[in-house]
Amino acid sequence: MTFTESTERQALRESVRQVARKFGAEYAIDRARRGEPLTELWQAMGAAGFLGVNLPEEYGGGGAGIYELALILEEVSAEGTPLIMMVVSPAIVGTVLARYGTPQQRQRWLPGIADGSTVVAFGITEPDAGSNSHNLTTTARRDGDDWILNGRKTFVTGVPNADAVLVIGRIQDTGRLRPAMFLLPRDTPGFTYHPIEMDIVEPERQCQLYFDDVRLPAGALVGGDDAPLEALFAGLNPERIMGAAIAAGTGRFAIGKARRYLLEREVWGVPIGAHQGLAHPLAQCHIEVELSRLMLAKAATLYDEGDDKAAGEAANMAKYAAAEASIRALDQAIQCHGGNGLAADYGLARLLGAARVARIAPVSREMILNFVAQHSLGLPKSY
Ligand SMILES: Cc1cc2nc3c(=O)[nH]c(=O)nc-3n(C[C@H](O)[C@H](O)[C@H](O)COP(=O)(O)OP(=O)(O)OC[C@H]3O[C@@H](n4cnc5c(N)ncnc54)[C@H](O)[C@@H]3O)c2cc1C
Repeated sequence: MTFTESTERQALRESVRQVARKFGAEYAIDRARRGEPLTELWQAMGAAGFLGVNLPEEYGGGGAGIYELALILEEVSAEGTPLIMMVVSPAIVGTVLARYGTPQQRQRWLPGIADGSTVVAFGITEPDAGSNSHNLTTTARRDGDDWILNGRKTFVTGVPNADAVLVIGRIQDTGRLRPAMFLLPRDTPGFTYHPIEMDIVEPERQCQLYFDDVRLPAGALVGGDDAPLEALFAGLNPERIMGAAIAAGTGRFAIGKARRYLLEREVWGVPIGAHQGLAHPLAQCHIEVELSRLMLAKAATLYDEGDDKAAGEAANMAKYAAAEASIRALDQAIQCHGGNGLAADYGLARLLGAARVARIAPVSREMILNFVAQHSLGLPKSY
């Protein structure tokens, strides 16, 4: 165990910062306010090889791990330019395809995901199932060699700018319903979507999806028609790790802005950072963000070592810790800025909603506490 990152990883962090700084937080704020994705930054990150760093080299990836992908997302978020689709396209979909896709699926999708030219969204949440994914009702039935998909999804991020969606549904076969994953290109007949009006300022839109007798070829099914649960959930640990990374980076961004303001702003003849009423809470936030980063590093390391079970627990804990730390850090950063904390020019208040998402998605605070109570503490299942 070592607590100093390798020089390669430190250099990777620095390279990411350099790319992100060419765009800057103002760029991200402007795009988010217009509801437009950070396309130029995404392309620059893809060209630098950052978006597919976790994917196999034979498909154009970097051959590294989720640790590297998470540190890239953390750094880009710490610059105020978070790329939420990194959580979805390379981390969830890329991982699932690399581990469980057929050779044809890997060849078709991974090179584009790796260089960022292809974006695949991920749809699991359904309006009536909510946190209870056992109640998913999106269903595929066989029709010759094809599949016919019916159902709907909600809150799926980034669909208007994605090439396809990895849809989690069920297969209806001899009366049994089994979980299954389908790659659904966005222009497939019978597939429609519309954005949900959200009160958060984010560049990517959340969408409702409708599948109305969508015909998909046999090759759209990922992981086979008897996919093990591990195949379905192979992407969910990376999703939580990346959720922790974006939150930890956002927390660092907020603390950095607050720190600079505390050093500059004077009201009683000294910088306001001299007042412990502001310095101590910010120091607490810094400690909490650093603790969450430690758990993030643990989760990513365990995941890359192939210990999915231990990584699952750590990924849940990291996501919980980073979400809570970043929400508190942002709130405190706003407090440090006084009225300016809510002024558009300072770009902090617009992050409130986006940071708050981490307490709900990809898995809510309560479902993580359920998991930890039951699996880490051995308490009875409460629901
Ligand atoms: C900005 C954003 C982006 C998202 N992106 C995606 C995406 O790309 N793809 C996708 O598939 N989904 C996405 N989601 C959906 C997200 O994963 C869900 O919102 C989340 O899992 C919670 O589900 P729900 O909204 O249905 O809440 P519900 O399940 O209805 O829960 C409501 C409340 O009840 C609590 N609760 C539920 N069950 C229990 C229990 N047993 N014990 C204690 N408390 C409980 C929850 O924690 C929550 O506080 C996104 C959501 C948001 C807000």
